Amino acid sequence: MADIFDRIGQFMAEGQIAPTPANYEFWYRYATGADPDLVIAVDAVRSALGKVSTGAMANIRREMYGGTGQTNVSRLIDETERQLERMAGLMEQSGKDARGYREQLDDDHQSLGPDTAIEKQRALIAAMAERTAAMIAKTTRLEQELASSSGEIAALRNDLELARVESRTDPLTGLSNRKACTDYLEAHVLRAHAEKRPLSLVFIDIDHFKRFNDSFGHRTGDEVLRLVAASLERFFHGRGFPARWGGEEFVVVAPSCDVGQAAEIADSFRQHVGARGIRSRDGQQDIGRVTLSLGVAELRADEAPQQLIDRADAALYDAKADGRNCVVTADSVRRAA
Ligand code: GH3
Ligand code: MG
Ligand code: MG
Repeated sequence: MADIFDRIGQFMAEGQIAPTPANYEFWYRYATGADPDLVIAVDAVRSALGKVSTGAMANIRREMYGGTGQTNVSRLIDETERQLERMAGLMEQSGKDARGYREQLDDDHQSLGPDTAIEKQRALIAAMAERTAAMIAKTTRLEQELASSSGEIAALRNDLELARVESRTDPLTGLSNRKACTDYLEAHVLRAHAEKRPLSLVFIDIDHFKRFNDSFGHRTGDEVLRLVAASLERFFHGRGFPARWGGEEFVVVAPSCDVGQAAEIADSFRQHVGARGIRSRDGQQDIGRVTLSLGVAELRADEAPQQLIDRADAALYDAKADGRNCVVTADSVRRAA
């Protein structure tokens, strides 16, 4: 196992791959040989170029798993059911065999007494030895069948874990998706209430994102999304939980931050992203600058997660109305009563 971890680390270091759950999962599949087609595709790139970069990995991922990269969950469920039925069948058969063996031994024992003729004793003992040998053979077979079933169940558990990670990851950016984020938010809202600690939520929307798509094409639009996602991940590392909310909207849950702290971090992120011009990956096009509008809200006493989401979203809406490329906090929201 340690060997697999080392190898995954080596492959990811080679290609300078960001250690996101989705990326790790890709290399885990490769290192364990769980997907033979993936092994062939990765080996081809590695032998040609000596490494698999993030871009090459994205291409392989698209080629292998299509747009979504979802593991076939219904196949996993079918296979799990098949293995469970097989296990249940083996257990039932082994119970029957053991009962039959015991009953025969009982019968043999009954027929054996101090007056039993020596020939009959010999015949009975020979029959008992034969039955015991047969029982040992059956038990050995059962052990082998159980071992093979356990192996398949362990592989299934791996696949299910991968499916679980995939179901919580946004395939385009590798960030957590909305479902993973709302689960995280709900858990941390409970903790914040219980521990009377602050918690803030930041909503982030790329300004005029449609223009990137319209001017440079959808693929470049995707590149911009990945870029913002990677910046989010780096910038908020250790400070908050970033996720892709949908489309060109992202959120960050910042536990332990009050609204002032969260707004300050949000604004430095806005400046960080807006500070540099972007070129397309092939370096051919100057894409310009990406600006962001952000809405920040702090959890109120007894507030439910959905209300907090609504307030952060409303603050973001106000940031758009305020002319974009700015941060608005829910407390400063000016709205008609
Ligand atoms: P605003 O400043 O008001 O937010 O304007 P906007 O253009 O960013 O917002 P709008 O909601 O009008 O457009 C968002 C666009 O994002 C529309 C949609 O086609 C595009 N989009 C959503 N998801 C994706 C994606 O995964 N990839 C790409 N390339 N585009 C996407
Ligand atoms: Mg939007
Ligand atoms: Mg937008």
